[in-house]
Formats: sequence, C-alpha cells, structure tokens
Amino acid sequence: MAESPASVPSAAAAAVSGPPWLAGLNPAQQAAVEAVDGPVLVLAGAGTGKTRVLTARLAYILLTRRAWPSQILAVTFTNKAAREMRERVGHMIGDAVEGLWLGTFHSVAARILRRHAELVGLKPNFTILDTDDQLRLIKQLLQAEGIDDRRWPPRVVLGAIERWKDRGLTPDKVPSEDIGEVAGGRLLRIYEQYQERLRTVNAVDFGDLLLHNLTLFLTRPEVLAEYHRRFHYLLVDEYQDTNVAQYLWLRLLAQGHRNICCVGDDDQSIYGWRGAEIGNILRFEADFPGARIIRLEQNYRSTAPILAAASGLIARNSGRLGKTLWTESDGGDRVRIHGLWDGEAEARWVGEEIEARQRAGDGLSSIAILVRAGFQTREFEERLLTLGVAYRVFGGPRFYERQEIRDALAYLRLVHQPDDDLAFERVVNLPRRGLGDAALRIVHMRARADGMSLTAASAALVGGGDLKPAARKALGQFLDDLDRWRRMAADQPHTDVARTVLDESGYTRMWQADRSPDAPGRLENLKELVVAMAEFENLAGFLEHVSLVMENADASGGEMVTLMTLHAAKGLEFDTVFLPGWEEGLFPHPRALDEKGGAGLEEERRLAYVGLTRARKRAYLSFAANRRVYNQWTAAIPSRFIDELPKDVVEVSADQGLYGSGGFGGGSGGGGGGSRWSYNASEPRASFAPARPPPMVLEGKALAVPPRPAPKVPFQRGDRVFHTKFGYGEVTAVEGDKLSIRFETAGDKSVIHSFVKRAEEAGQA
Ligand code: ATP
Ligand code: MG
Repeated sequence: MAESPASVPSAAAAAVSGPPWLAGLNPAQQAAVEAVDGPVLVLAGAGTGKTRVLTARLAYILLTRRAWPSQILAVTFTNKAAREMRERVGHMIGDAVEGLWLGTFHSVAARILRRHAELVGLKPNFTILDTDDQLRLIKQLLQAEGIDDRRWPPRVVLGAIERWKDRGLTPDKVPSEDIGEVAGGRLLRIYEQYQERLRTVNAVDFGDLLLHNLTLFLTRPEVLAEYHRRFHYLLVDEYQDTNVAQYLWLRLLAQGHRNICCVGDDDQSIYGWRGAEIGNILRFEADFPGARIIRLEQNYRSTAPILAAASGLIARNSGRLGKTLWTESDGGDRVRIHGLWDGEAEARWVGEEIEARQRAGDGLSSIAILVRAGFQTREFEERLLTLGVAYRVFGGPRFYERQEIRDALAYLRLVHQPDDDLAFERVVNLPRRGLGDAALRIVHMRARADGMSLTAASAALVGGGDLKPAARKALGQFLDDLDRWRRMAADQPHTDVARTVLDESGYTRMWQADRSPDAPGRLENLKELVVAMAEFENLAGFLEHVSLVMENADASGGEMVTLMTLHAAKGLEFDTVFLPGWEEGLFPHPRALDEKGGAGLEEERRLAYVGLTRARKRAYLSFAANRRVYNQWTAAIPSRFIDELPKDVVEVSADQGLYGSGGFGGGSGGGGGGSRWSYNASEPRASFAPARPPPMVLEGKALAVPPRPAPKVPFQRGDRVFHTKFGYGEVTAVEGDKLSIRFETAGDKSVIHSFVKRAEEAGQA
C-alpha cells in the first residue's frame, strides 16, 4: 500500500487482542483465513461461517500487504453479496476498498470482456441482452428456418442453447452426440445463427460473458498471462453452484499464482437445473494438487431445533459427502408446522404471525417468506398490503422489467449503441410513427442481405427508393432524432438526455394520452427511472448496471419483510423464516421430479435444507389443504419433506376444522375424523405417514371446495370500527370473515374482522 495505512494495528494492540482478521473466529476458521498460499477448499455446512471466513481472508491479505486490492479477485453469488462483502472488508480494514475485483461471475467477466472486446469480434460498448430480447431473437431464427415455434417454443430452444453455454461449449465444440431432437435436430444450426446474429448487433447474452472470456483466454495466451500476473489471490463463495464454464474460467485464472480459495457446501447445491456441477467440488483435490481441505463444523446461525430439523432432513439424501454440524446454542422454539384450509388462509396466518413478531418488538427486516415458486408471492403480497406491512419482493418482478421501463431502456440503449437491433425493433414504431410491417420487413431484408444493423440499413434506405415516401419520411425523422440525442449524449448529463428522449420521442405523451388505469403508474415509473439514473456517472454505467442487477434493492431503506424464492435466499439469514406451501405437487416441485427423477428429488431436498438453514431463531412451515390453479380447486397433501423431519424438534398444528372434527373433515375426503393433526410433538410417534390426511380428491378428480365453515362475524353493515393502522371507518359490506370498510383517512379496504374492533371499544363513538 502506498503510505503506511493507519488501519494496520500496532504490534502491541495485536498482541493483546490478536490480529483483527482473526477476531472472534474459531481455530478451524482461523486456519482457513490464514492458509493463503496454494489452493484451499473450505467444505462445510450451512451457517458455519464460510462467507465470514472468506471476508476475513480478504482483509487478512490486504492488511498483511500480501496484495493490492486490484490483485484480488473475489467472486460472490449475487451483486448484493458482493456489496456486503465490500462493506465488511472496508469496515475491517478501516478504509474503502478501491480497485478490488469483487462481484458475480457475470459482472467480473463483463468487466474483462469490455477490455478486450475487439479480440473476440465485439466492440467495447456491447449490449448485454435480457431474456426477452433473447427469446425474440430465437423466435425470428426459428421462423426463418421454418421451424414450428409451437412445437419448439423459443424458451425450450434457448434453454438448450444456454445449457451448452453453461458447459463452456461454443458451437464448434458441441459434440455430435449432444445434438438431440430439440428444434427438429437443427439446434446446433440455430445456435450458430444466434451467435452470428449477436455478434452483428454487438450484443452478448449472460452465458456469452463467460464463454467469450474462455475463448479469449484460450486463444490469446498473452491476455491470460496478463490476468495471471494481475490476480495473486482468488476467492470464491458458493462454489457448489458453479457450472462448467465458470469452473473452467476459475481454473484458467488460478493457473497463475495458484492461490485459490473456494468455499462451499455440497448439501446446498441447488442449481443443477441451470447447469451447476456438484462434481466441481468433488474434483477440487484432483484439479488442484496439494489442495488443503478445511472443514468447519460449528454452526453459529441457528438454534438447536432448527439445525436438527435441517440435518435430519438432509440426511435422507444419499449423494452427499457427509458432514458433522453442531451448535453451542441450546433452547429455542421447535420448528412450527401448520396446516391450513387454503392459500388465502395460509397468507392470513403468516400475516398474523408477522404481526405477532412486530408486537414482540422484532423489526420487519428480520423476517422472510421463502417460496418454492415465484407465483406464490402474490397471495402474501396482497395480504401484506392489506395489513399495511412493508415488504419487498427480492429478485422477483422488478422495476426494470416493467413494460414502460423496458421501452425507455430500449431508447437509451439505442442512443448509446446504434447497432443494438433489438432495441431498434422495440421502439422504431413506438409510439406509432406510421412504420408498418411492410416497411419494417424491407429494413430487415436489407439488414440481412448486407450484413448490417437495422440502423445502418435504415440509413441506406432513407436515401433510396425502396420505401414508400411516407415511411421514408418517418424513418428519416426517427434517425434524425436519434442522431440529435446521440450528439446531446456526448456532452450533456445523461439524465437530461433521458428526459429529452422520452419527451421528444413522444413516448411520454403516449402514456399521458392513455386512459387505462395503470397509465399514471407507468408515468411515475418513467420519472423514477430518471431518478435511478442519477446515481450513475454516465449512460454506459447505468445501462451496465441495469443488465447486471440480479436483485432489486429497495430505495426507501426502511424495515421490510423480504419475500423471495428459496433459490434466491442462498447465503442469507433471518431471525424468522416462513416456509409456506410445503405440499406435494408444489414442493418437491413436480417438474424437478419429472425431469430428473431421484436426482431431482435430492436437489429439492437440498433446497428445503437451504430454506430451513436460513432461519436463526424461528422457522414456520405451512401447507394448505386446497389450492386454486386457474379456476379449479385441487386438494393437496403435505409435502413428503414434512414427514421426513425429526419428530422431536417440530410442533404440528392445523386450523380448526381441518382434517379434524370441524365442518369439513367428514364430508369430502372420506373421514378425516378425529384430531389427527392436533399432534403434540412431545408424544413419541413413529411417523407422520399414517396420520396423513386422506387427499381431498376423489379418484383424481378435483373437487369444488366445500364452503369454509362460516366464521362468526360480530359486525354488520353500518358498524363503526377501528383498525390500528387505518384508523376509524364504517363497515360497508360483510363477506365471510372479511369486512369491506370505508376508512376516514385510508379509504376503502378489505380487512379480516379480527383486525378491527368496535369504535366505542377503541374509545370513540
Ligand atoms: P451459508 O452456508 O448459509 O452460506 P456460511 O457458512 O457462509 O453459511 P456465514 O453466513 O458466514 O455462514 O455465518 C453464519 C452466521 O454465523 C453469521 O451471522 C456469522 O456472522 C456467524 N458466525 C460465523 N462464525 C462465527 C464465529 N466464530 N463466532 C460467532 N459468530 C459467527
Ligand atoms: Mg455463505
């Protein structure tokens, strides 16, 4: 480091409290931190401090001046994890950490690729495509090849191409036995054309980032040598989920100094469906001779019952390396398992428990709801909205995926990069400029014939006679506008450019003229987009950010419940974790079982293990007896994973009337009688299996759900009521246990009757 950094502790201070990078770590963790020379694999279960060790190791390397920040490459699983690691290291060394190569595989690979784009036939300002653009492109290629895209949906074709990319296979490397049936056996041809097309429009997809890096390193030894010289230390988190391309990339980079440290847990490998290779972890010793394997066994995250539940579950898997896990913590609540009537009841129950946590003084940020499938969030979102509980959907439908945002981004991309054909296509006639299909077909044909971008083809056509005069004029105007905005972008703030583009293009006006109810929200989003841009230095930086954001951090920064998929929750921890929807047909997910059989089931079980081990203090599992799919009710039975949990660490309950003596049990399923689910975990019981309620489907036929036992609602129309969040109001309708209330300040809301009390009881008549 340049000058003597004040943050290096004095020898005396270190002698008293030990060096700061080892503070609070156990001996095995300390060994993992200080073993910086040569290859190291830290193989350990959830919550044993793998990520913490990696962070301490980074600080150690810096503080002992083994390397400059710019000589360290650290790879995390999400951008958020990278941000956190950067902050923590900064905190430990008492300084900002400038120059570190710290990010996801994709972001680091993008950074490398921009520096050498020309060497693989791209320009440095290449666009990173999103899924939408990819699909559109595949669709076009299928059409051009005369392949029926109902038989071979673009999603399937793209998925198959991406699997090749995950395996590091460029079209010339795809083995002939791998060609298969997809796209009528013409997948390789589509893949070739797809890559060609991407290069023409100066774009890459996510898989290409790694793939082009590999090509670069393999064909340009001098470039690889440069990175060998540069990176003295490599650190990798969540190693169990690397795919082959990422693995090859790491192996090439590690050839230089050989100081590579990977941390991972084979029991948390949950991305097999996306090409992750658990074999990478098993092969580590063979690939890096002399590698040290360090095991960590103490779990610091979870209470004993949670850890026991998770360990008991994962012990059912056969394909595992096997690990010991223990905790010093004793006490702690059992894992709660609760059965409910349907999805709505489940969401209501979760909402109630969240409010109970709030009353107990917990912050909302200490709570997460982890779902197996994205669609599950809707029910909880609605519930939380009703309750006025702040939440965010993490990694879900994001701001940048909204239609108007995508349109606006297409304009900006096109300003930034004239060859971006997909952006061109998206906005050339949006708002309508009188450029019909016929005109656009001519532009396309010209582009394909002359091997140029749509912008270039348009410019050529504007000067010629192939287009009708009206189209020629409209297209010419569009190109002039783009030129003007590009000139503006050269010397004016990118936020001004964005506003100008949106106004002058007529895009904003289009939504202003739109009378649909969601138009005002879209206009607000467009404004917010400009706000978001202001955080970046320039348009290029912003567009790069948008293509790379994997998660959507909330700007308001207050306390919020987190909703996300189990997959996205890897590496995170929360005091309280809700795990809803543990039902056969949902979790384990049928698709995983169909596609991969036993291996699929084991991956689902690992996902369950990941879910449980996110919880520090409380884990709540739930299942519903009835689910609605489209307009049909189907009966569900509890997930087999619930049966597999050790009995002595769980506590099972169910809503009244469910599987029991209440209004429903006797009727449909053929006698759920008795109170089987009022099971108390302290009574030893051999298995849940015999207690499993009979499914509520007769001969596989979905039944209409019998009416829920009518709740007694102590309110009627016209009653004056009080709600702790919404204040005073008047009941306008009663439906089931739900009240429609017109609140004086909060407006019309629908709430469960148990959330309000009579106005007079609240102290106001
Ligand atoms: P996962 O497998 O879920 O990614 P992990 O092995 O990376 O887990 P960390 O997230 O690093 O585990 O650590 C889990 C929790 O335990 C964190 O809150 C961390 O701060 C804490 N922790 C780790 N090591 C110690 C320690 N020696 N003393 C006290 N707390 C620790
Ligand atoms: Mg971790």
